[in-house]
Amino acid sequence: MTQDNKQTPISQNTDEGRVFIFDTTLRDGEQSPGASMTMEEKLQIAEMLDAMGVDIIEAGFPIASNGDFESVQQVALLVKNAQVCALARAGKKDIDRAGDALRKAHAPRIHTFISTSPVHMKYKLKMEAQDVLEMVASSVTHARHYTDNVEWSPEDATRTDKDFLCAVVETAIKAGATTINIPDTVGYTTPQEYHQIITMLRERVPNIDKVILATHCHNDLGLAVANSLAGVAAGARQIECTINGIGERAGNAALEEVVMALNVRQDIMPQWTGIKTQMLAPASKLVSAVTAFPVQYNKAIVGQNAFAHESGIHQDGMLKHNQTYEIMTPESVGISKSSLVMGKHSGRHAFREKISELGYRLGDNQVKDAFVRFKDLADRKKHIFDDDIIALVDDEFAKGGDSIRLVSLSVVSGTEEAQRAHLVLEIDGVQSEVESIGDGPVDALFTAIKTLFPHEAVLQLYKVAAVTQGTDAQAEVSVRLSENGKSVIGRGADTDTMVASARAYISALNKLVIKRQRQAPDSMSA
Ligand code: MN
Repeated sequence: MTQDNKQTPISQNTDEGRVFIFDTTLRDGEQSPGASMTMEEKLQIAEMLDAMGVDIIEAGFPIASNGDFESVQQVALLVKNAQVCALARAGKKDIDRAGDALRKAHAPRIHTFISTSPVHMKYKLKMEAQDVLEMVASSVTHARHYTDNVEWSPEDATRTDKDFLCAVVETAIKAGATTINIPDTVGYTTPQEYHQIITMLRERVPNIDKVILATHCHNDLGLAVANSLAGVAAGARQIECTINGIGERAGNAALEEVVMALNVRQDIMPQWTGIKTQMLAPASKLVSAVTAFPVQYNKAIVGQNAFAHESGIHQDGMLKHNQTYEIMTPESVGISKSSLVMGKHSGRHAFREKISELGYRLGDNQVKDAFVRFKDLADRKKHIFDDDIIALVDDEFAKGGDSIRLVSLSVVSGTEEAQRAHLVLEIDGVQSEVESIGDGPVDALFTAIKTLFPHEAVLQLYKVAAVTQGTDAQAEVSVRLSENGKSVIGRGADTDTMVASARAYISALNKLVIKRQRQAPDSMSA
């Protein structure tokens, strides 16, 4: 671990070049429609973020639900290096709930906010500017009772009156805020305008040099990364971002993009982060798998085609010298070129090493289960790649609870007769079986599951992807089910597409069983 990854000071001189990475994948990212995560998945992501050198992890919004509260609590217990942050609106109850959730964090931060734009104050808050100003002072003061590490945000800052923005920021600093975040909540600003806002605050607000200024940019116009970097150029030293840029609507600034832009263009942006860039691709895969949000092929840094050279002229140039068309290497962001990693004869020790190299931290029992699956896979598939192991381990994690377990499945498909599925499930320890027909094998299979475990959940997504190339590749299936406005993602991987489909559906049902006991989180912005 480099010294940049050590616990960061709460405030530092903004003339220095260290940029803090504040990841909000677990809070803003989870607010993406359809991206809700289980606690286990959140912990898995938090561990990855901590290991990759993220400075601050925003773990959730504790007042929203008991599930959110517990997730923040568990993340706070788990994380070793990063500061753990909880979001709270300006009210006392919200802040108390955030403070409670963070009680055991080694470096807690409370992030509180209130809207300051005319349109938000008038229609959302129904408050006068003077009352908002008083709320700023009282909320920051209250948060300081829990920790001296308090972040404050004027929601919709980029559409806030400039004089009023200076006044609220000054008030928050006076009340004890140590980080001031300037959210472009609606993704409306441009790099030049955002640069001017940060510059104005640095010129006009007393004691602004005593706090860290932060960017929080949304991508509605595709400018989130550019705006964040413009903020840094103007003196901001914290970037709020998410893996794969997930988040409300068009999402947030993508962590991997801001980090690599600073990394590759040191010549004109002499700022740096503490991120281990080799973990960017594994982190992207993990978040994509957990949310079942595919990463677009041409996505910068982590897309499947980001380092692919198709045209003859480019390939020729690459063969002569890779710098002809490559501004960074795939290895620098953790993309290994289809590395053939393991085979039939690899032992458990090598397997454990490999999964930890891929960024996973598994318990002994999880390693044992995953290793059994790996041996089984190695019997059926000649070459096993990193991606196979990632799919397999993700599948282990995706099981959710295990009220429902797949015992056996056989499916008949083809042109000659109706497609049939014969399925045996164990539900709360009791085995039962059924044979169903359907309009195609998947339909027959899902009908069989529904017969053995009746439910009202609606199938919203069924997606099959090949983990690697070749006809013996594992199929990775994602299934999204929704029930009473709650949605869950189940995943399954197997060389047999039907078995992977059954696993995915059952994993979603297992999660739904857990989720039934929870409330849905409020919708939040900031
Ligand atoms: Mn946001």
